[in-house]
Amino acid sequence: MKRALLLNCNGEPLQFIDGMRAIKLMLKGRVDVAFGATGTPSYWEENIATPSKEFKLPAVLRLKYYVQKRPHKKPPRFQKHVLFNRDSWRCQYCGIELSYSCLTIDHVFPTSRGGSTCWRNCVTACRKCNNTKGNKTPEEAGMKLMKQPLEPHTLHYWDISKSSVWHDDWNLFMSQ
Ligand SMILES: [Zn+2]
Repeated sequence: MKRALLLNCNGEPLQFIDGMRAIKLMLKGRVDVAFGATGTPSYWEENIATPSKEFKLPAVLRLKYYVQKRPHKKPPRFQKHVLFNRDSWRCQYCGIELSYSCLTIDHVFPTSRGGSTCWRNCVTACRKCNNTKGNKTPEEAGMKLMKQPLEPHTLHYWDISKSSVWHDDWNLFMSQ
């Protein structure tokens, strides 16, 4: 099931919650559906059914009150699906959205020339762009990155089953 991003009342991301918990919080009046990138409330396209009623599944919820944030765990080592989460499962050169098996890791500064496997030197890329770029830097290959690669947010580590179920609105609240 798709999840909702739960925000503190100040917009700080807290955690992902499942659809049922999201609906319960809404019914208890503890949250509002946050506005997404288009300036409208952020929902998934699908509905979620409870025994009594069907609801539109929210993608981002904001608490109406402040909760003390638990300290974040130390970020674990470099992981492929975390990188894909950070990049919204999109090739950072052509922007195409793909699933786990169709995406690759591109080293912005090539490994063959000493580039390291770290958050700031790795981006998500489709096979085509990765092949085109080869052992060149983006400048040398005449390719442009959609954004500068940064350390992921703690919530990017949350395992969303290695598939493309990332809601674009989440980026709004999880940018560094
Ligand atoms: Zn591409």
